[in-house]
Amino acid sequence: MLNVVKILLLAVLVGFSVTTLANLGTTVYMHRALAHKALTLHPLAVFCARLTIWLSTGIRPRQWVAVHRKHHAFTDQEGDPHSPVLLGWKNVQMRNVVLYRISANDPQTVERYAKDLPQTRLDKIFFDRALVGLGLGVALLVFVFGPMVGLLAAVVHLNVYLAGSAAVNAIAHHFGRKPYANGAGNLQWLALLTAGEGLHNNHHAAPTSARLSHRWYELDPGWWLIRVLSSVKLAKVRLATVRLKPSAHRVTV
Ligand SMILES: [Zn+2]
Ligand SMILES: [Zn+2]
Repeated sequence: MLNVVKILLLAVLVGFSVTTLANLGTTVYMHRALAHKALTLHPLAVFCARLTIWLSTGIRPRQWVAVHRKHHAFTDQEGDPHSPVLLGWKNVQMRNVVLYRISANDPQTVERYAKDLPQTRLDKIFFDRALVGLGLGVALLVFVFGPMVGLLAAVVHLNVYLAGSAAVNAIAHHFGRKPYANGAGNLQWLALLTAGEGLHNNHHAAPTSARLSHRWYELDPGWWLIRVLSSVKLAKVRLATVRLKPSAHRVTV
């Protein structure tokens, strides 16, 4: 009995740790650096991020970037790949992966919104093979922690990662504090689960800002990583301060 509890606890701990790495790679590399060019990363940091994303999610960054830029271009209007206003937040929460795949599989989406991210040789050989990446990631967990803990940790990670990513598009486009006049909300609990992405109202107000926390009490783990990477010259932030987009309107302070 004690052994079973130990295995479960270890699997949850390992699963959450992998999710944290995947979320940091998602928000710092794919979202803030690639999609919005809010910072540039040293090639070594890029390689580590690409490897982490490949092994833990199988996501192809240029597809993710394209779908996300389309979301910003049509936020909560016809054309938004995953809008709770058009589809209902529960629907987006449950079907986020399907909605993502529909948009990502449309060649026009990538063609139009990720022109600046052509397929590289490394993509062709490794990173575009999503199932190979995911399979290797699970095999690595099994190799390090044994089959029981490794497989359970993989299940925990995939569920928490998918639920967290869906929540940013669904729950954080319906609930949460709205200091700026846009359809997204700030949810600190979600920001802690998604390395800062839950501060989504701030992000829609200042999409080119590398920092998603705008107030002293907001916590943005992705920004903490960017600070560390900057201090060792592995990252360079484009804008020194948070710059609101011209249309961003502050509702409260
Ligand atoms: Zn959004
Ligand atoms: Zn964005």
